[in-house]
Amino acid sequence: MSLTFSTPTRLSPSQYGRALACPYQFLLAKTPEAQVLVGTMSSGGAAAVGTIVHGMLERAVTTDLSIPTAFETAWQQLLTHQEARLLKDGSTHLVPLAFRARGYAVTKLLLRWYLANKPMPIPAPSGTGLPFGPEQRLTDLSGCISGIADFIRLGTDGPEIVDYKTGPIFQLNANAEAEIKPAYAQQLQLYAALFYEQAGCWPTRLLLVDLAGNEHEVGFTESACLQLLDEARHLLAQMQSAVAAGNPESMAAPGIEQCRFCQVRPLCGPFEAWSTQI
Ligand code: SF4
Repeated sequence: MSLTFSTPTRLSPSQYGRALACPYQFLLAKTPEAQVLVGTMSSGGAAAVGTIVHGMLERAVTTDLSIPTAFETAWQQLLTHQEARLLKDGSTHLVPLAFRARGYAVTKLLLRWYLANKPMPIPAPSGTGLPFGPEQRLTDLSGCISGIADFIRLGTDGPEIVDYKTGPIFQLNANAEAEIKPAYAQQLQLYAALFYEQAGCWPTRLLLVDLAGNEHEVGFTESACLQLLDEARHLLAQMQSAVAAGNPESMAAPGIEQCRFCQVRPLCGPFEAWSTQI
């Protein structure tokens, strides 16, 4: 099948881990052919429910959603909007999400519990020029690495970047010890570097928050974050060159881990070639 690749112009911190594991997957997923495929074989609605959860968390910064009626009103508004988008995109098999999306009821219950017990954040000071608040876009000086941080708040020692996760935050490493998923840690470290390039100062803490309300701190050093940002720019440049040269397949990195759950695998020639050799 002939595929229509386009040159990527931006890479976001949330895309970086996936793009690093297999840059070709990042390029392939952006083709119109892959988007049709993913629309018909989709993820079981988890992404759509995740979008609703993020919308709720964003609203909870300025609106008290601890009261059940306020929670339900906001949830229904976002649900209606999300289902309309799914119908428009052709993902009719996922509507209604309440019956079709995996984990819908549990996710909603956990979020209700979290918001009922969550302390209201300290109001961010105005006039600092720093990007405080929900859904803050952060961009590097080149404009190529850019993404939206879920929430930037004022902590006791300075700015804190918070990212909400609806799924597991930890995985087992080679020593069978629980560790924060490297892709999540890198995502926050990239936000830290973008915050620095945009605002001229560093955040003091990076935090992943689960729906039980637990906050997990991601360690960082300034030099490692800046190096990661350089590597992200380099990866984007490599992908751009491969597409410009008409050889995006050269960016494929087939392997058991990355290919196992790859949604665009049915379109992937390099996977086919690799899997016949193993
Ligand atoms: S199937 Fe494997 S090699 Fe092909 S795009 Fe997906 S992750 Fe990359």
